[in-house]
Amino acid sequence: MSTEPQNFDIAIVGQGIAGTLLGYFLEEAGMKVLIIDHHHQGAASMVAAGIVNPITGKKFVKSWRIDDLLPAAKSIYSDIGTKMGIKSYTDANVIFALETIEDENNFLSRSEDELYSKYFSKETDFSQMDGIISKPLQYGEIQHSFHVHLKDILTTFREYWEKKNAYLDEFMNYSDLKISQDGYKYKAYHFNRIVFCEGYLAKDNPFFDKLHMQPAKGEVLLIKIPEAGFKKMYKDKVFFVHQYDDIYWVGSGYEWNFLSEQPTKEAREVLIEEINRILKIPYEIIDQKAAVRPATANRRPLLRVHSEHPGMYLFNGLGTKGSSLAPFFARQFARYIVKGNPEDLTY
Ligand SMILES: Cc1cc2nc3c(=O)[nH]c(=O)nc-3n(C[C@H](O)[C@H](O)[C@H](O)COP(=O)(O)OP(=O)(O)OC[C@H]3O[C@@H](n4cnc5c(N)ncnc54)[C@H](O)[C@@H]3O)c2cc1C
Repeated sequence: MSTEPQNFDIAIVGQGIAGTLLGYFLEEAGMKVLIIDHHHQGAASMVAAGIVNPITGKKFVKSWRIDDLLPAAKSIYSDIGTKMGIKSYTDANVIFALETIEDENNFLSRSEDELYSKYFSKETDFSQMDGIISKPLQYGEIQHSFHVHLKDILTTFREYWEKKNAYLDEFMNYSDLKISQDGYKYKAYHFNRIVFCEGYLAKDNPFFDKLHMQPAKGEVLLIKIPEAGFKKMYKDKVFFVHQYDDIYWVGSGYEWNFLSEQPTKEAREVLIEEINRILKIPYEIIDQKAAVRPATANRRPLLRVHSEHPGMYLFNGLGTKGSSLAPFFARQFARYIVKGNPEDLTY
């Protein structure tokens, strides 16, 4: 990228799914956007499976605001796919392993609730799992779920912004950001506004405190299962998500007190134990990855406006559900940044 002074309407620090979608909407609204990202190894969006699953937990409850979030996510990812010429998500039902009578009862009673029933598949077909999975007591199937191709979306947008000379590949040192009445200056770049979308690294952001971040590390294995062939997602204690060919994503635990962002032997062993319990056929480990979720104490996204520096914002707190939260809230926050209607800060 040129070192000539350059002017932008807004800089986005962090190009995970939060920064990417916010950048997309701000550009749609006519803003000239500069992206700054240093490809941090623990970036959650590059490791996540991108699952959007409307029904979660042992009690099979609806995810928070899923009736709004899911259709918005689908239509926004579809638009992005069309605009960028990529396949941005794959529709795939989730087959749940129901291990106990209680699980089965919980699942059945939810499926009969009229507020839930649209997410419970009536035409279930578990034959894909025959001979492959050690059959639990029963299966249950959820529909309208999908998995987002986060890595493809991020990589495609990165290339797009690089081509426009609107991408700065480095870690932004907060002390290098100069604030004046004319806006913001960072090295040779001038911008009128700035949004921080740093994922869990926001814990070190000196401009925004009281974020109540509770970062949660997760580890995953990519495995090759030559004889598997199932395309639906499978949820036991871990998730199996088909990626491409015969490669599957398997993960992932939650670690709240982690010492490093690196993959660990301990997490690998836990995942292998689960895979060995669940799979009846041979597999091969291809890769192990770890990343940190930007979770918050109240499990809600963070749409923040700095109280003293005009035009300084933070978009974060996507936690365990960035794939479903990011589209809806990036659109809403971008609208706030452009139009300034305070209602767009509430949710
Ligand atoms: C193992 C795992 C599995 C997951 N599975 C799912 C799932 O199936 N479905 C789902 O919805 N969610 C899932 N999540 C959660 C999801 O990944 C996150 O909610 C989402 O990716 C957060 O996106 P983000 O953009 O806020 O942060 P990130 O993806 O972490 O991106 C932050 C970016 O900011 C950059 N950055 C930070 N500070 C600076 C700086 N000072 N200068 C320059 N760049 C900076 C980093 O390099 C990084 O690229 C999972 C997370 C993990 C870890």
